[in-house]
Order: sequence, then C-alpha cells, then structure tokens
Amino acid sequence: MNQEKFKKINKACFLDRDGVINEDIGYLHRSEDFRWIKGAIEAIKLLKKNNYLVIVITNQSGVGRGYYTSNDVKNLHKWMNKVLKENDVQINDFFFSEDLPSNDRESRRKPSPKMIDEAVEKYNLDKGRCFMVGDKLSDLETARNASIKGFLFEGGDLSVKIGKILKDHL
Ligand SMILES: [Mg+2]
Repeated sequence: MNQEKFKKINKACFLDRDGVINEDIGYLHRSEDFRWIKGAIEAIKLLKKNNYLVIVITNQSGVGRGYYTSNDVKNLHKWMNKVLKENDVQINDFFFSEDLPSNDRESRRKPSPKMIDEAVEKYNLDKGRCFMVGDKLSDLETARNASIKGFLFEGGDLSVKIGKILKDHL
C-alpha cells in the first residue's frame, strides 16, 4: 500500500464569517445588508498567495430559529464568491451550522470542532499547518477543540492581522 497517497498535504485558514469577513449585524442573510470588513478581500488574497485554502466556518442559528433558510445562507455565500471573483479570488468552501445553542454533543455548532474536522477530511488537510481566525472566544475554543492554532481578530484591518499571523506565528 502506498502510504504517501494518504498523507495530509493541504493547509487551510479557517475564517469565522460574521465579525471577521463582514460586519456582524446579527442574523445577516441578505447581500444588501452585507458590509465587508476592512481589508477582508486583501486578507483572502494574501492567504491564497501563501497557498492556504480559505474555508469559512460559521454558526447560523438564524436557520434553526426560523429567521431565514439554509438556502438564504447558501445564496449569500454564492454572492460573496461572486464579488470575490470580480477581485480575482475565491473562498474555497463554506461550512455552516444551523443548530441552536445547546448541550447536544452531536451539534456541529462552534465551539464543536466538527465543521473543521469535516473540512480536514474533505480537503486532506494537515492540521499542523492550519489555523483559525475568529472574533469571539468561542472561535478560539473551536480551534483548541480541533487541535489547530487559533487567533482572535479584535477589529481593524483584517489583512494587517493576517499578515502579522503569517509573519510571526507560521
Ligand atoms: Mg464572529
């Protein structure tokens, strides 16, 4: 058996969505309400230039609450990638959880590492070369639960933050 074939080869940056890529207005689901965080598009370009897959990991309990549908979420993500395409860059994939906050151990909702683990399987990722950026402590907890590095984005320009992470920590 050829073991080489099964080696984890890719690396990814996991980005939380609300508060990292776009302003967190609460239960965002319409492109009209979408506002890019300063430097977000540049940050995604910078990650791509450094050969990272860019994967969004987001909790969307608004679906579970009945505020909007999973199709609304998918359409918003398609719209984001349409805008990004005009900027010659793409987000590789979006994973979202519709679950409400609960103690259910089956929940995929962050801080569960389940969505990250799904991406690791799907893209053959080497966790040792992956990291997550989020604006909440629960994002850091997610990273810890998934055994990858986690960094807190506290506002400002996302491309500056990502640039610093790539330079100082990876
Ligand atoms: Mg957030």
